[in-house]
Amino acid sequence: KTDELMKREKSESLFEKAKQYFPGGVNSPVRAFRSVGGTPLFIEKGDGCHIWDADDNKFIDFCGSWGPLINGHNNSAVREAIIDAVSSGTTFGAPTRKENELAELILSNNRFIEKIRFVSSGTEAVMSALRLARGVTGKSVIIKFDGCYHGHVDSLLVNAGSGLSTFGISSSAGVTEAVSKDTMVLPLNDRRAVEIAISDYKEDIAAIIIEPIPANNGLILQDKEYLQFLRDITKKNDILLIFDEVISGFRVGFEGAAGYYGIQPDIITYGKIIGGGMPVGAYGASKEIMSHISPDGNVYQAGTLSGNPVAMNAGIAQLKICLQPDFYKNLNSKTEKFVQSINDFASKNNYLFKIFRIGSIFWFAFTDKEFVRTSTDIESESMKYFREMHSDLLESGVYLGPSGYEVGFVSSAHSEEILDAAAKKICNSLTKIFTTSTERVS
Ligand SMILES: *Cc1c(COP(=O)(O)O)cnc(C)c1O
Repeated sequence: KTDELMKREKSESLFEKAKQYFPGGVNSPVRAFRSVGGTPLFIEKGDGCHIWDADDNKFIDFCGSWGPLINGHNNSAVREAIIDAVSSGTTFGAPTRKENELAELILSNNRFIEKIRFVSSGTEAVMSALRLARGVTGKSVIIKFDGCYHGHVDSLLVNAGSGLSTFGISSSAGVTEAVSKDTMVLPLNDRRAVEIAISDYKEDIAAIIIEPIPANNGLILQDKEYLQFLRDITKKNDILLIFDEVISGFRVGFEGAAGYYGIQPDIITYGKIIGGGMPVGAYGASKEIMSHISPDGNVYQAGTLSGNPVAMNAGIAQLKICLQPDFYKNLNSKTEKFVQSINDFASKNNYLFKIFRIGSIFWFAFTDKEFVRTSTDIESESMKYFREMHSDLLESGVYLGPSGYEVGFVSSAHSEEILDAAAKKICNSLTKIFTTSTERVS
């Protein structure tokens, strides 16, 4: 092709500046484009399913700010709710009506939690949920799974130990051994590993935390039976089950993965969608469990900006849209059609590629495996194809999160027409990759 490459000068010069101000030039690491190469695009604005960068290139966006924007960018109802709230002041550090409104909207449409506490990020929600679980049970050890991400909570920045030790080894400098040894890391989809850990340490285990829909390290979907197994074995052994639904909450359905699978965990964490694009997280549980939180109980947790009216109003506007009849049915079926058309094309051409999907979450996998259920099922070699695809798709006006381990999201603002156009570009890109890569391999 003789097409000129997209202009990048402005993004590049903004990035040069940013590198003087921020570590790696960014305020969150994956944004730096290190895993796909090149330099990040600086985004100027978004509208519906589109974003524009500083050089005025236009993209169909499948990153959606990593999940929060289930109704696309600059949604008019969300925008007006924010402006409306801002014009009465941004924060008071005192209760406001809007907190009640958002809580009522959630609690009256979610069978899995009875009380909720708002915080300001997903990480904060998870951190608080762990403290709550430890406070309720009086035990200290947390089981997490390899391949699940729960934010940058110290005790969860931990990898599986080697050999017989199942206790964690910190995956970040600055996380002490004292902290990491209270975390056990087990493989997903392995019942035996859970049974052994519980039989050896049940007196010490406060909680098992899982992303019921693991979507931060590829999309490594679990069987419903496995999630039910976790529910049963934790209940039997006085261990709490925490569903980290920061991605899946309000995404696969209003009741998230708990509703999707019909499984009742003890504590659920939320983030991303709940704040309509403003910084909000939350955790919820039964009235009994939540009674342990201060000021009712002795588990301390607080926040200067928690429940602030601007963020609450954005969440209210967003979730009201999600509660409209058939909202999820339509979103999920248009995502299914989009994914199916690409999968059909890939399989017809025998390309080593498939898209895994649940609801409106999808993940590009360069694999011939029918299922990917553990992080070890993902071959790091396959990421070189993603890198090629990512940069090719940027050139053709499709924006994916800059890592092959990240999922993509379809929003209600993606029309079927746009999805068809994006699917064509993705199929063209696959053809480019698979017709040139055979020469490269040899
Ligand atoms: C994004 C995410 C988090 C962290 O949320 P932040 O708002 O980035 O702190 C935690 N858990 C899961 C499952 C997530 O997807």
